[in-house]
Amino acid sequence: MTDDRIEIIIANQFKGLDCVHTEDILKEEYGKKTQIASIGLAEENLVLFSGIVTDKGRIAARSGVSAVMGSKNLKAVVVWGTKSIKSADPSGLNELRKLVNKRINKGISPLMKPGLKASTTFAPWIRRFRIKNFGSMSPSNMIIESYRRWGTCAGSAILVETGDAPIKNWKGSYIDFPLKKSSRITGDNVTKFQVKNYSCHSCPMACGGIMKYSNEQFTLEETHKPEYETLIMLGANLLNDDIGAIYQLNDYCNRQGLDTIAAGAILAFVIEASESGKIPKDEMNGLNPIWGDPKDYLSLLKLITTRKGIGDILADGFARASELYDTNSGMHIQNQPLPAHDPRFSKSMILPYRLDPAPGRHTPFSELMIDLTKFSQMFPEIPKTDRFFNFYCYHKTVSSLGLCQFNLLTGNFPVLEFVNLVIGFDLSIEDIVTIGERILILKHIFNLREGKNPLDYKLPERVLEKAERGPNRAISTSKEKELIMDFLDSLNWDTTTTVPNEKTIEGTWIR
Ligand code: SF4
Repeated sequence: MTDDRIEIIIANQFKGLDCVHTEDILKEEYGKKTQIASIGLAEENLVLFSGIVTDKGRIAARSGVSAVMGSKNLKAVVVWGTKSIKSADPSGLNELRKLVNKRINKGISPLMKPGLKASTTFAPWIRRFRIKNFGSMSPSNMIIESYRRWGTCAGSAILVETGDAPIKNWKGSYIDFPLKKSSRITGDNVTKFQVKNYSCHSCPMACGGIMKYSNEQFTLEETHKPEYETLIMLGANLLNDDIGAIYQLNDYCNRQGLDTIAAGAILAFVIEASESGKIPKDEMNGLNPIWGDPKDYLSLLKLITTRKGIGDILADGFARASELYDTNSGMHIQNQPLPAHDPRFSKSMILPYRLDPAPGRHTPFSELMIDLTKFSQMFPEIPKTDRFFNFYCYHKTVSSLGLCQFNLLTGNFPVLEFVNLVIGFDLSIEDIVTIGERILILKHIFNLREGKNPLDYKLPERVLEKAERGPNRAISTSKEKELIMDFLDSLNWDTTTTVPNEKTIEGTWIR
């Protein structure tokens, strides 16, 4: 695609190529400045948890979006444009941009520096004293610095210790994956292989990293830094503290377009189900993946991306495999594997996991996110009683603008001001919430039309029951129901059918 032309080109020669090679060849042909979204083997073979890859390894991974590209035989989209993007108030926008950049570039005082390093050391104390709002207790500068220095891998150990991260397919705790192991997949132990940091377009946080990793078995000349979700799902969730193996698995997933959350979840599923004899040994294609030993993990992922042997069953996700092998080891909701945040740690997680139009999402909201963004402080006019609803809708608007939520999590981020300077309106926070509510309802009623009522969805019992060991207590069925009913009430959706009421439809200008 260029400024004034869209061309569809037959690209049979790209079939079977991974996304990094695809991008290299396309850039060679169409220019270094092109932006490319492509698919790898996983999507070509319609794996239901495959994603769309950009920037040689950044992946829009959730919900199997790129199996749609695969089903249309669309290997890549190459875009190049020369026109500028105009804003309503360029000088105002520039001033605000400078202010935000100054805040982000400010850094922290030397006195605060030891605090950054010590957060992992303090993790067991945070667990012991059940401090759940540890993120929002940290000064904004510290959070900014932490993102810039480590990105999301800063949090692995602390979230393992406190019970937010899943361990051993959601059955374990920090006792099974103690601090000396979780530290190996945290902070400096991940970033010591960083060659340079990396940002999405113009972002001053630059939380990404380009890494070089090598050991006796393999070398990755250029690969992306694993994110928190990846480190936990391919690490703690498998009792695997081998950072080299995580680098290798992450690199493979990024090249072939596999969601690393799903990859970790499906590996844990297979380990548990084969260990208990639910998956017969003779169906394992000679592999024997076990907890804490990554020897067979990559081979199993390769079977999935190529749909060979047991990989063909697993590529269709958890629902089919769970039914076929008669096991409850699949930690998913509606075939979407659960991400690395435990609702027993943060109960509000139940709501987006169950009710979001794309269920099993951790990004729409949680108590911690609301605290970190300083939402109530930024918008005191918004009633605190409905803060989940208001934040959820606000966040839907922010997501639809393509803005990254990590900047929001640094607190007091001026989204509203940015939006008004760009579009030249004078939107209030109430308007932003209404726009978000409209987006939510449109997605929701699409699902309703397709016969999908989220009240029919079920979370795996394991994430609601008391953990066998560790800090996570059970969530009673009545508490889960109460949370959901209260939230449906604040959404003004029917508590049985989930159909939004007439007044809500009118209020969001959908008609
Ligand atoms: S936009 Fe978000 S993900 Fe990208 S570099 Fe900035 S903070 Fe990181």
